[in-house]
Amino acid sequence: MKCLGIEGTAHTFGAAIMDNKKILSDIRDSYKTKKGGIIPNDAANHHRKVADKVIKQALKQAKLTIKDINLISFSQSPGLAPCLIATRDKAVEIAKKNKIPIIGINHCISHLTSGLLFTKATNPVFIFVSGANTQIISLEGNKFRIFGESLDIGLGNALDKFGREINLGFPAGPKMESLAKKGKYIPLTYTVKGMDLAFSGIITEAITKFKKGEKKQDLCYSLQETLFAMLTEVSERALAHTQKNELVLIGGVAANKRLCNMLKIMCKERKAKFFNVPLKYAGDNAVMIAYQGILEYKSGKEDNYNIDIIPNLRTDEVMVTWK
Ligand code: AMP
Ligand code: MG
Repeated sequence: MKCLGIEGTAHTFGAAIMDNKKILSDIRDSYKTKKGGIIPNDAANHHRKVADKVIKQALKQAKLTIKDINLISFSQSPGLAPCLIATRDKAVEIAKKNKIPIIGINHCISHLTSGLLFTKATNPVFIFVSGANTQIISLEGNKFRIFGESLDIGLGNALDKFGREINLGFPAGPKMESLAKKGKYIPLTYTVKGMDLAFSGIITEAITKFKKGEKKQDLCYSLQETLFAMLTEVSERALAHTQKNELVLIGGVAANKRLCNMLKIMCKERKAKFFNVPLKYAGDNAVMIAYQGILEYKSGKEDNYNIDIIPNLRTDEVMVTWK
């Protein structure tokens, strides 16, 4: 079965075609800024502008026409409302015009299942660290349970917020990672509350220290060390609590080598296996949306052309009906 997946929850508009577990194409076009963060309406306008081109390229790369497509899936939740609407509108337009079944996908869930598609993990604890989300998750029964999460902003957004202050533009994470290589450690507050994390106070503290003259690279290094250590601590406790021995790191921040290393060391110490999704598929992409579409469609789900967006749907609210 061939599914055209369309992603557009935030910065990236993507179209990909999957034939069951095989990737036939994967095209992306991302909204970026030189200064400042994501402006939701600007990102949505970006998506509207590039949508037709991206989808056409995805069909071309797969050597298919729209007539060969059996299913269209799109990122319905969660995300920036203007971006979700732009994506939904395009998915519905194509599905309706070509009489193709449509299915709305929870973007976070698709990150998780793609973690299983791209690694050898079978029943892991997931660390999901993207722009907007930071959660420690594992499947228990028919729901993905959240064992710990950020109480304020996501780890990626936290890094981006500091990056904005030091004029790195969006996304700041990768630039902060290279600046951190030249940095030395400055103590910052460490906020783990039970299994939950809080990042925004630490970011404010780092911004204040920057304004008082501390060096960019030292603050980038210290932020990485502090925030990643917090995440590693709760991840270890989640492994202990669930008695699972596999850890899968996913989401855009999974690109960070220092974070991977910290988690790897922790896993090695407790004889757990560490997996990370290939870099290319760690951040937002449409491959995961297409794959999740196929899984859910095969388990009997189908939506209609009046489908609405759900900007705030949580991962632990979705019933897992697929295998
Ligand atoms: P996502 O929302 O999953 O696409 O992830 C985007 C987030 O990942 C943004 O906040 C980026 O700043 C962050 N990010 C990407 N690469 C890195 C990196 N190498 N180190 C830290 N954060 C990163
Ligand atoms: Mg994402």
